[in-house]
Amino acid sequence: MMIRVRFHGRGGQGAKTASRILGTAAFNEGLNVQDSPVYGAERRGAPVAAFTRISDGEVLERGYVFDPDVVMVMDSTLLDNPTARPLDGIRRRGVLFVNSQTGSSFHGIQTARPDIRVATFDLTGEALSLVGKAVISSATAAAAARIIGLVTDGSLEKAIRSELEELGLNDELIEKNVTLGRKVFASLEPVELSTDEYFVRSGLVPFELIMGERTGTEEITSAGNSNAVKTGSWRIFKPIIDYNKCTACMVCFAYCPESALTLRGDYKPVIDEDNCKGCLICYRECPPKAITLEKEVREF
Ligand code: SF4
Ligand code: SF4
Repeated sequence: MMIRVRFHGRGGQGAKTASRILGTAAFNEGLNVQDSPVYGAERRGAPVAAFTRISDGEVLERGYVFDPDVVMVMDSTLLDNPTARPLDGIRRRGVLFVNSQTGSSFHGIQTARPDIRVATFDLTGEALSLVGKAVISSATAAAAARIIGLVTDGSLEKAIRSELEELGLNDELIEKNVTLGRKVFASLEPVELSTDEYFVRSGLVPFELIMGERTGTEEITSAGNSNAVKTGSWRIFKPIIDYNKCTACMVCFAYCPESALTLRGDYKPVIDEDNCKGCLICYRECPPKAITLEKEVREF
C-alpha cells in the first residue's frame, strides 16, 4: 500500500512544510515516508508543489507525484492555474481537497471528474483566527493526515512541534499551530482511498511544460510566452485603493516591483489586476493608509 499526496500552494503559504509535517506524522506511526518540494526561482505567491509518499513497504519511487491519491490545494485560485494544474493525474476515487472560504461545492470540477471526491474547509480563515497569519502549513498537513486516515492526532501534534521547532518558530507560535492542527483534524473525516490508476491532463496549457521523471525542473520549450503568464493569478489578497484617502503621493507607484500600477490624469494610481501579484508592498508603504486588502475569492 502506498499513498501519494501532492500539495499545491503559493510561495509563502507553507506547502513544503505541510508535506514535511505529514511525512513526519506518518513516520511517527511507524510507516515509511518520503517528502520533497519542487519550485524554481520562484517568488512569494508563485505556484509551488510538494509531495509526500507514505507506505507500509519500501518507498522506491522518486520525483514528482504524477498520479496522486490525494491532492491538497492550498489556494482555490490555483485550480485553473495553467502552470499548477492540480487536477492532473488524480486517481479514480482519489480526493481533491480545496482550502476554500466560500464553502463552494465545486460543481464544475465534479462534473469534469465525477470519479473523484471533493472536500473543502476554510483553512485560511481558521489560521487567521487561531494563529493570526495566513500561513497554513500545519492546517494543511492536519487536513491531509485526517483524510488519509493513517495518522493519529498524537502523531500529528508531535510532527507539528518537531517540524516548526526546526524552522525556528517560537513556543507561542508553535502552540497556536498545534491548536490549529488539532481543530482541522477534528473537523474532517477520513476518506477510503482506492489504488485505481486514472490519469488525466487538464486542457488549460498555454505553453508546453515538460517535467519528466528524469528532469529536476520544468522546461518551457516554446518561446515568447511571458505575456501569457498573468501574475495576477498569484494573489491571495488584492490591494484596493480608497481614492478619497489617496493623496497622489505616488509612493506605491515607485515601490511596485511588477510595474502593476499606472497613474491616472490626477496622478492617482490604477492597479493592473492581470499582473498585480499581491505582494502588498503598496499596502505597507502607502503613507496615508489609503490601500486596504480583500481576500481573493473565485468560484469554480
Ligand atoms: S500588491 Fe501592490 S506593489 Fe504588489 S504587485 Fe500589486 S500593485 Fe504592485
Ligand atoms: S501610496 Fe497611497 S496615497 Fe500615495 S499614491 Fe499610492 S495609494 Fe495614493
